[in-house]
Amino acid sequence: MGYETTALVIGGGSTGCGIVRDLAMRGIDATLVERGNLTHGTTGRMHGLLHSGGRYAVSDRASARECIEENRVLREIAGHCVEMTGGYFVKRPEDDEEYFQEKLEGCLACDIPAEVVSGRDLRADEPNLARDVEKAIRVPDGAIDPFRLCVANAADAETTGARIETHAPVTDVLVEDDTVVGVEVTHESGPGKRVHISPGTTEEIRAEYVVNATGAWAGRVGELAGVDVEVRPSKGVMTIMNVRQVDSVINRCRPKGDADIIVPHETTAILGTTDEEVSDPDDYPEERWEVDMMIDTLSELVPILREARTIRSFWGVRPLYEPPGTGTKDPTDITRDFFLLDHEERDGLSGFTSIVGGKFTTYRMMAERITDHICEQLGVNERCRTAEVALPGSEDLATLDERMDSFGLRSPIARRSRQRLGSRAPAVLSGTDPNPVVCDCEAVTRAEVRDAIDASGSDLNAVRIRTRASMGNCQGGFCCHRMAHELSPRYDEDVVRAAWDELVRERWKGERHALWGEQLAQAALNYALWATTMNVDGDPARTGAEVDFSAFDAGERGSEPGSATGVAADGGTRGDQ
Ligand SMILES: Cc1cc2nc3c(=O)[nH]c(=O)nc-3n(C[C@H](O)[C@H](O)[C@H](O)COP(=O)(O)OP(=O)(O)OC[C@H]3O[C@@H](n4cnc5c(N)ncnc54)[C@H](O)[C@@H]3O)c2cc1C
Repeated sequence: MGYETTALVIGGGSTGCGIVRDLAMRGIDATLVERGNLTHGTTGRMHGLLHSGGRYAVSDRASARECIEENRVLREIAGHCVEMTGGYFVKRPEDDEEYFQEKLEGCLACDIPAEVVSGRDLRADEPNLARDVEKAIRVPDGAIDPFRLCVANAADAETTGARIETHAPVTDVLVEDDTVVGVEVTHESGPGKRVHISPGTTEEIRAEYVVNATGAWAGRVGELAGVDVEVRPSKGVMTIMNVRQVDSVINRCRPKGDADIIVPHETTAILGTTDEEVSDPDDYPEERWEVDMMIDTLSELVPILREARTIRSFWGVRPLYEPPGTGTKDPTDITRDFFLLDHEERDGLSGFTSIVGGKFTTYRMMAERITDHICEQLGVNERCRTAEVALPGSEDLATLDERMDSFGLRSPIARRSRQRLGSRAPAVLSGTDPNPVVCDCEAVTRAEVRDAIDASGSDLNAVRIRTRASMGNCQGGFCCHRMAHELSPRYDEDVVRAAWDELVRERWKGERHALWGEQLAQAALNYALWATTMNVDGDPARTGAEVDFSAFDAGERGSEPGSATGVAADGGTRGDQ
């Protein structure tokens, strides 16, 4: 007999993490399984905008109202994951005045605080904006860290008794007598906190109720259960600049169009985006012109973007859903609302519901709706408290500020740590061990890295998403090996090596789309650092091929009379051309 749980959630994005926390808080025995790390899907590849709702105030007022409602809730329960930058919808001379007025009215009608600001006042706040920007509508947009928020939800659920299983893809959905009774997962091997069961094995997890919260992949998981879930995945590109060219969220005030938003995020600014339907959420083209378009079009709003340094680009896939028969052609017209698909009602398959569509900003509300539904199915009578109870790290932020001095936390580095750790900062940072900076770009100290290792094991990508180490300007050139070093001696060398390899591969994935100008020089430097300190290419000493040690002394040509070179740089295996 396999493992048994009451409610099983498939998918460790914002929706799944929100659901598992809500279930656990209502006293339901819950398990979450995720095929990669937490935030492996769209949640780890989004803009980081805490919507005010302004973006939807003309086209989709229901979504706009949900956004402003949740915007207020998240500021309360997740203060350490949110930066209230404020946002502007800016109008250039060629943008439509009528639309500007509609946007303003729409915001006010949806209870979104909104006011018109002149171009002059706007540039006093945002000096890098183009001279010809005429005016703007100010709204309470913000920036939010999806990684920390998901981890906080999952960690809270774990503390309340839930089981969180990452790197465990669902490979089958178990159906008996028209009822879903559980799933089969495969435990993948590799570094990190991923092995409740031995790697490479499969496990049957039986559950009274199963939720499909796999976003753009919901159709695939639906297929495993024999039902249709009509998601319409739509990809969008985002390009990360090395500094914050703007300090507020800058939206272009026009009906729709690509490349119309800049979100300041931590030390960077993220440009976005596009909206193009794709058939496979795991396999779609990532094209250079998409990146160029971000920079070209958004330079109309912020001209210095043309000369600025790009550090990486990445793509995400929206989990859009349209009820069957709607047939919208343009993905930008598909609603951003979310849908709860009870497969008993739709397909005669009980014990199984999919949740699709929606936005990151409304993840908690989505989780509340589906947890209400599960409680109803299970006969549990507990109300939702996730809008009231702060997430770990977010309690007492005000009093924490007062205690900053007593912990010597006023330095810029400590301030950044405190932003990330919230109320956990004193506990993590007040030890007596030396606490050097591990990641200079993001100001992450050893204590923070070790704290993340305590929580996530040897998976350095999990450490990255908890701390932001390796996510700054140098993209890990100077800190990936330092992070790996912190795994020793707790983990064996082969585990440390594998963890470092995975981290470096993940960094390179996004950097390869930004190889020009200063970032190309940075990439070349990173390569040299990784090749010379960590042997990134795997020379014979690492791969086990035979090494001609004598070549190090004399070199192949060095042994020839009159040769100028004395040492074969590759250890003598390939010659010294
Ligand atoms: C370009 C872009 C920008 C965006 N920007 C914003 C923004 O700024 N603000 C905002 O509010 N929203 C934004 N969104 C929308 C938002 O990112 C998503 O709506 C949200 O993150 C979806 O979360 P999710 O948990 O439903 O899906 P996901 O995060 O995709 O989670 C689903 C999880 O299921 C897992 N999974 C899949 N198959 C299996 C399996 N067989 N077994 C186990 N696990 C499986 C996946 O690995 C994944 O981690 C953006 C979306 C895109 C594409």
